Amino acid sequence: MAEKILEIKNLKKYYGKGDSLVKALDDVSFDVYKGEMLVLLGNSGCGKSTLLNIIGGMDSPTDGHVLINGEDITQYKDKKLTNYRKEKIGFIFQFYNLLPDLTALENVRMSLSKKDENHLSEKTLELVGLGDQKMKQYPSQMSGGEQQRVSIARALVKNAEIILCDEPTGALDDKTGRKILELLQDIVRKQGQTMIIVTHTTPIADMANRVITLRDGKIEHERVNEHPLSAKDIVW
Ligand code: ADP
Ligand code: MG
Repeated sequence: MAEKILEIKNLKKYYGKGDSLVKALDDVSFDVYKGEMLVLLGNSGCGKSTLLNIIGGMDSPTDGHVLINGEDITQYKDKKLTNYRKEKIGFIFQFYNLLPDLTALENVRMSLSKKDENHLSEKTLELVGLGDQKMKQYPSQMSGGEQQRVSIARALVKNAEIILCDEPTGALDDKTGRKILELLQDIVRKQGQTMIIVTHTTPIADMANRVITLRDGKIEHERVNEHPLSAKDIVW
């Protein structure tokens, strides 16, 4: 059996109260294994982003626990939580979340503690297909696909143990989206990182090792893909 990296235990996240109570997460439990690509699938509003944000230490649950390598991050405060976010987690968003006043290279370098690690940032940008000239450009000078590559490089450069992707292709056309998925799959296969991809696009699930379907804040279904498809072969 593969090694567990994350244990999600009885996670609940409630908003509002009384008649306006929303159970964004309603007792969700599952494990994540080292080096797997896990897809969390579900319609808009089912709790996917809430779940990812809690795993990433950007939001806290109403109840329940998130254990990483056996340590409960829901008990972390202040500096410990900040360090967790900085060191263990790479976050890839639908709309990239790059800093507009920084070049691609500076955006990537930002996520390293030592600001002088130019070489590593350059190497990582090359790895995601953004060579020499592109690195010096600002986000506004880049296409959506290129901006997403920068944000992937930003997650990779710090060697995060877990990469969380919230609708990473949601703002991209199909062809560009597929290229991004190929890159993400390549990263997991070659670098052995653990990746959780949240999406409402059903066919994307075919490239995962495992798929968890959410509905109304609960796990509806879980399946293992014995033969995950190559991102190239996904049809949508
Ligand atoms: P998804 O990412 O699957 O679209 P979300 O996790 O964003 O879903 O939202 C799950 C549910 O929680 C939705 O009903 C949403 O309206 C609600 N929700 C999310 N964030 C908040 C918030 N800050 N305040 C109140 N309700 C929220
Ligand atoms: Mg969402």
